[in-house]
Amino acid sequence: MHKRIYLSSPTMHGLEMKFIKEAFDSNWVAPLGKNVDEFEKEMAAFIGVQHAAALVSGTAALHLAVKLCGVKPGDVVLCSDLTFSATVNPVSYEGGVQVFVDSERDTWNMDPAALERAFEKYPHPKAVIVANLYGTPSKLEEIKAICDAHDVPLIEDAAESLGATYRGKQTGTFGKYSALSYNGNKIITTSGGGMFLSNDEAAVKKVRFWATQSRDPAPHYQHSEIGYNYRMSNIVAGIGRGQLVYLNDHIQKKKQIYETYKQAFKDLPVSMNPHTADSEPNYWLSCMLIDKEYTKVTYQQIMEALLHENIESRPIWKPMHLQPVFQHNDFITVDKDTDVGGDIFSRGLCLPSDIKITEDEQARVISIIKGFFK
Ligand SMILES: *Cc1c(COP(=O)(O)O)cnc(C)c1O
Repeated sequence: MHKRIYLSSPTMHGLEMKFIKEAFDSNWVAPLGKNVDEFEKEMAAFIGVQHAAALVSGTAALHLAVKLCGVKPGDVVLCSDLTFSATVNPVSYEGGVQVFVDSERDTWNMDPAALERAFEKYPHPKAVIVANLYGTPSKLEEIKAICDAHDVPLIEDAAESLGATYRGKQTGTFGKYSALSYNGNKIITTSGGGMFLSNDEAAVKKVRFWATQSRDPAPHYQHSEIGYNYRMSNIVAGIGRGQLVYLNDHIQKKKQIYETYKQAFKDLPVSMNPHTADSEPNYWLSCMLIDKEYTKVTYQQIMEALLHENIESRPIWKPMHLQPVFQHNDFITVDKDTDVGGDIFSRGLCLPSDIKITEDEQARVISIIKGFFK
């Protein structure tokens, strides 16, 4: 049996240990400390936002963003439909109600036209949450313009798109509040962790306050609000500082993997996950989409054949409007017969995009897939 080929696994470089060791040597093996402060500063400078707060997860960052928007029980939040459930679960943590907005075909992300329709039906949502799927920027300026016109805050879920740019600007800068993730499978990892980003200093201060148990400035333990234990540890932040140095290197390798698939599949009834000409993804995951007219092969068959060869692949995120837990939530599409997210889910497959994949290994993956289209 060949060695397993992963979808996307952590890649450590050694530099991470230097920062961890510094934390040990100074005995700052605690939440907060120099690595946390520096990681926040380094990441904010890289992205081009003024403030960052390092947290235990991307989900925690999204939760506090939703809380900052003042979501209360029964409030509507317009959300990306084709995404991981972590994008939208925090709305439920605050008792809000997700309304899902369909995708467009140019990026697979939230369709600005469907968002306009959602605003017609729900003129006063508390927030809009947009995710940049698989490292591909959404049509962020269009979406932000619609939110601004309605005076509704945009939350950008950039968990998968760290380092990607839209019209020359980093993702994570378009939301009033944005979230990053450093989970194990993301483009850089701290083993687990996330970050809240904003240009609003007061908002970031509030996030730090909530994330450290909402301790009032008093000599004794005093609380005027419910708090959370959401802060990143100084050890974990050390891993992040080491990883950040290699982010561009990771993106270059991911892009190479994507371009290799694209070239190999150019004569097959298959396309790759698309992006607009004015954006540069981070190519976190390469995904294939089988042409609609080509009905002889399903993504499940390809996934099974790859697994048989010890190769990991994964279905596209199952859209939120098809999830049992959200069966009673509304779903807004551009017209009544369209379901772009459901269609992509039915024909798409995420391919091995691990940056440690060798040329030979990727050639094996490609040859197994090509075998289905003879
Ligand atoms: C990974 C991910 C998250 C959550 O990040 P965690 O750090 O795992 O909590 C949120 N949204 C999307 C789109 C993700 O892929």
